[in-house]
Amino acid sequence: MQNKENHEPRGFTRPFTATSLMAGPQRAQVKPRAEMDHNATTGSGRECVGASSSAAPKKFSINDFDIGRPLGKGKFGNVYLAKVKALDSIVALKVLFKSQMEKEGVEHQLRREIEIQAHLKHPNILRFYNYFHDQTRVFLVLEYAPRGEMYKELQRCGRFDDQRTATYMEEISDALLYCHERKVIHRDIKPENLLLGYRGELKIADFGWSVHAPSLRRRTMCGTLDYLPPEMIEGHTHSEKVDLWCIGVLCYECLVGNPPFETASHSETYKRIMKVDLKFPKNISDGARDLISTLLRHSPADRLSLKNVIDHPWVRANSRRVLPPVFPGTKS
Ligand code: AMP
Repeated sequence: MQNKENHEPRGFTRPFTATSLMAGPQRAQVKPRAEMDHNATTGSGRECVGASSSAAPKKFSINDFDIGRPLGKGKFGNVYLAKVKALDSIVALKVLFKSQMEKEGVEHQLRREIEIQAHLKHPNILRFYNYFHDQTRVFLVLEYAPRGEMYKELQRCGRFDDQRTATYMEEISDALLYCHERKVIHRDIKPENLLLGYRGELKIADFGWSVHAPSLRRRTMCGTLDYLPPEMIEGHTHSEKVDLWCIGVLCYECLVGNPPFETASHSETYKRIMKVDLKFPKNISDGARDLISTLLRHSPADRLSLKNVIDHPWVRANSRRVLPPVFPGTKS
């Protein structure tokens, strides 16, 4: 199904439009919790995200999709490349097993992911199109990110150069500005939660879901502590400024290949984070050092703003961000 050369799946030729997967002219809206719970227990198998009250909801079931190759495995199920039969459009279909989620008591996190992500529309945020469920599984219909996880790409490359990292910094800052304006804080920015689009552009994924479900991969290495800001370690209330800390850690990890406060033990990592014990390898440019040091400030109020990240001289000199074309008559 996948053409490795250009990252385009074979056989899926028609451009995908988000609205075609939704029920009406409006963006999908999530059903109230009680209604979702009811459907989860009755397991009708044909439920989905509702739409504007003026339009009948478009109902999906697994029969509406051709299932392709697995894209990856998550804690609660698998993700598949899929084609919406009626539209000849590709999506990523995330299949989550209710029993596993119930066992871990994380249903509320799934709700959070749906509620938050369904309302965000930005070129650097993975689109959430719809959901439906049957008796045993919940299916999330998501934008397909052809170049996969940034984490794997970083493992493959070892580290990224200034151009690539600065481009990611501009993309993620712009996406987070959009989120923060809507009072959404991601709180779990790290390469595992970032996917890459067709042109390699960054896509923030896993809204609200990974917040309290740290990836096992990092837990086995050194936990997810590497991206934790001091205020979260100390148990203080935190604001959107936690995301500024995280993109500082991300910038460092992209350029160096490992996160700045990594140690062999949790307690040592905690200590290094609390002291902001930041050390740069020799090859890191002055501009990148300046950006990282002004994001990794212990006091949230002292961190560089997202707008100033985008305008930072090192980002401006190195970013190669290209925005997707907006066709006449369409809304971005
Ligand atoms: P998750 O359950 O979200 O952790 O996803 C498991 C794996 O599936 C990820 O590590 C990705 O490699 C892959 N994956 C998840 N969502 C997508 C997507 N929308 N497009 C492409 N690959 C994805």
